[in-house]
Order: sequence, then structure tokens, then C-alpha cells
Amino acid sequence: MRTIEIFDTTLRDGEQTPGVNLSLNEKLEIALQLERLGINRIEAGFAATSPGDLKSIQTIGGRVKNSTIVSLARSVQKDIDKAWEALQHAESACLHVFLATSPIHRKYKLNMTKEQVVENAVAAVKYGKKYFDLVEFSCEDGSRTEMPFLIEVVQAVVDAGARIVNIPDTVGYTTPKEYGEIFRQLSANIRGIENVKLSCHCHDDLGMAVANSLAAVEGGATQVEGTINGIGERAGNAAIEEVALALDTRKDYYQATTGLKLDEIARTSQIVSRLSGMIVPANKAVVGANAFAHESGIHQDGVLKEATTYEIIRPEKVGIKTNKIVLGKLSGRHAFNDKLIELGYHLEQDELNDAFRRFKDLCDRKKQVSDDDVIALVDSKLTDVPETFKLENIQLSYGSNSIPTASVRVVKSTGDILEEAACGNGSVDSIYKAIDRVTNEEVVLEDYKILSVTHGKDALGEVYVRLSQGAISVQGRGVSTDVLEASAKAYLRAINKIIALRGDSVEVLI
Ligand code: MN
Repeated sequence: MRTIEIFDTTLRDGEQTPGVNLSLNEKLEIALQLERLGINRIEAGFAATSPGDLKSIQTIGGRVKNSTIVSLARSVQKDIDKAWEALQHAESACLHVFLATSPIHRKYKLNMTKEQVVENAVAAVKYGKKYFDLVEFSCEDGSRTEMPFLIEVVQAVVDAGARIVNIPDTVGYTTPKEYGEIFRQLSANIRGIENVKLSCHCHDDLGMAVANSLAAVEGGATQVEGTINGIGERAGNAAIEEVALALDTRKDYYQATTGLKLDEIARTSQIVSRLSGMIVPANKAVVGANAFAHESGIHQDGVLKEATTYEIIRPEKVGIKTNKIVLGKLSGRHAFNDKLIELGYHLEQDELNDAFRRFKDLCDRKKQVSDDDVIALVDSKLTDVPETFKLENIQLSYGSNSIPTASVRVVKSTGDILEEAACGNGSVDSIYKAIDRVTNEEVVLEDYKILSVTHGKDALGEVYVRLSQGAISVQGRGVSTDVLEASAKAYLRAINKIIALRGDSVEVLI
């Protein structure tokens, strides 16, 4: 059995998903869960792009002990300096430098000759090695690079000291057979390959990211890069949970396994979905709500007689629990805290007191509180975005033959209490218009989604909005037993994020 290491880039490539902007605490929460999942390397960001990214990498590097923390950097000294600034105190750190190698990128993007590409790549790796023991080099657009030149670049960076070499399919163009062959060629032709990890990084533009990653493993890759739920640039990245389950379920065929704790997968998927606002489709492999639902009578009958007739993965394997109802009105602080620990949360005393108070409030409105309710409760507070505006009160007048009118009262961080009213086309519209007035912010509502966290009439409602203002695009999330209140919270939170982001310079990523 070969061991395949997993490089997670949910916090870097995944965060490049349009509209996804994670706060520092949200990134930290995801990183700690990735550590529990057993991820080998966590790419926490791209230190040179903004002070906010640098700080997140630094914070994650200070907290995560069992995974190596990675920062991306272009092949230029100032980027590598920033990566070192972010990671110098991390328990285990890795620099990830990249430079495009394909003819298209050399000619139109870099305006560099082959010789210049090799020279810059080698210089970057050597410069990185002054600080970092572990350096990964990525040949951006590697899958569209001429094979002889790819071998030349890889040999040069290996000789310069790179210990991981990644061949990304940056644009999601390759096919399994072609991509697997690249890894076979490199394994056969690079001197010193036995001391180097070959890594794959696939995008899903043609729906082949996972298939291509598995082909790379067959060809000799020993590291797979991807994201949880497959989020990422454009059509997204290879979904880590799918790669891991494919290797596990078909170990007879691949003869390879990952070190992941597979029963942490469902929870990891849920946290990433909630915090990123990227909802997992019901039919998504491994983590979709329907992934283990059998509809056909013939299938149901088969599964009841013998699960393996129609079920190749047991839901428990990925951590899906069948009995979810646990807490209620009579549950005390101790039981609540035990539940939090079971779900993987480790709250400080203040946070615990606050969460417990909100749990008790919820029990007044809801008979049974499920795991999902508790997760939603805790996650909804997971934000370090300064609350420039805090919702104090909403009042709404609605009738089927009258114009909906909302009045909203907020407290500003300065202590001022502000109140405004507005009419709208519907209840949510009137609330949003009143919030626009009270905050005096001009924003565009790009998307609005409403979900029920759990089942039943008293379920918690979860609202996701995406707002934009100029070049800034953010998502906001609100949770409440009342969907109108959840709508207002989500909207106001997104506005607070926009205000916070305006103070941080955000460069466009590659
Ligand atoms: Mn990518």
C-alpha cells in the first residue's frame, strides 16, 4: 500500500471562489478542523496579497500543530519574504512557489523565454531554501507544457532543492490518460526523484478533476491537492473527500490510501459549506444530502436485506450520524459542553457562556435541539468582523393587500442608536431598504438563499446573501428561528464585512 499525502487548499484556492471571503476566525476554525481530519499540508493563504492574508497564515501557523502550514508565493523575493514573515514561528512550515511553464503563459502572460523561466524558477527555489526547509514548486499550467521542457524545469528545481514538485492542471484541460502519463514520464526521467514528492492539482472545468487526480496517483503522484467540497476558482478544484473515498473504497485497485480520518469528512464538509456560503448540492458525491438516500423500492429492499447490494460506502464511514436528536430544554451546561466537544468545538469560557445562553433561548422556541442546530448556533457567532452595525430590533407590517413596511433599529459601534423605516415589494425587500437607509451604505444584492438547517416546522432558518460594493464582493449568513430576522442578520453582517474589507488592500489573485 502506498500512502498518498493530502494538500488542502480550501483556504487559498477555495477562497478564490467568487463571493467567498472568510474572516480570520472562520479560516482558523476551518484549519483546526482540517487538522482533525488529518490533512498533511494546509495552504492557509497567499501572504503577499494582503495584510489580512498574512495575518491569517500567521495565526493558523501558531495554532495548528499536526499539519504543515503552507503559504503561496510568486517566484519573486518580496513574496517569499512575506511568506517567511507569516510562517517563521509555525511548528511546521512549507513555502509554495509557482511560475508558469506552458508556451501560452510564457508568451502572453510572462513574456519570458524558456531559459528565463528556468532561471527564475531556480532562483526562487534557492531563495526560498534560505528560509524554508520544505519548498514546493508548482509549474503553473504544467499540464499544457511541452514534455521535454517540463522535465527540464522539474529537474532544475529538484536540483535547486525543491522537495515537492506540483504539476497543476490549472485550467482543467487535461484528461486522465494524458495527465497520468505526465507523472509516469517524470517518475522515469528525473534524477533524484526518489527524494521528491510529485503532486497533482486539478480543476474541474470539464468535470474531470477527481478522475485526473486519481490518474496522477496511478502515474506516480504521492501528493494530491484539492479542496473540501471541491470549491475553488471557476468550476472548482478536485474534491478531497471524493479522492479519499475513491482510494479507500477501491484500495483493491489503487493499492494506495490516505492518512485521513474519514469519519471527520461530513463535519468538515458542513463547516466549509456554512462558513463559505457555498451550499453542497444534494446529489454531490460522498457529502451531498442524497448521497446515501435510496429512493427506488427495489434499491430500498436490497439495502434492507444487505447494505452492500446498493451501498458502496456506509454513511458512518464519513461520519454521518443517524441519530441526531440529543439536547433539549432540560439539558444543562455540562451536557451542552460535552456535545460541543463531541462536535469538535473547544470554546473559551466566555464563548461557552454566550453559546449556552443562546442555546437556552433556542430551547424556549424549539423542543428538540439537534447537532445541526448546535453547529449553526456556534458557527453563527464565529466572526471577528467588527460589528460596525448591530441589529437591535426589526418591526414589520405585512398584509396581503398592503405594502410591506419595515422599521429597523441598529446600534452603531460609536454607541449611536439609529432608526429608519422603508416600504418594499415584499417583507425582505422592505427590511433591506430600511437597512440601506440606516447604514447609509450603497450595496448590490447579488444573491439570496434561504435554507432550513433541520427538519420540522420549528427548524432554524439559515439565510445567505451575497452583496457587492464596487470591486468588493462578500457573503453574509444569518441564523434564526424566524427567516425574516435571519435575512436581516445576514444582510447586516455582509455590510459589516464590506466596511471591514475596505480597510484592507486586496489584490486580484492569479
Ligand atoms: Mn488552482
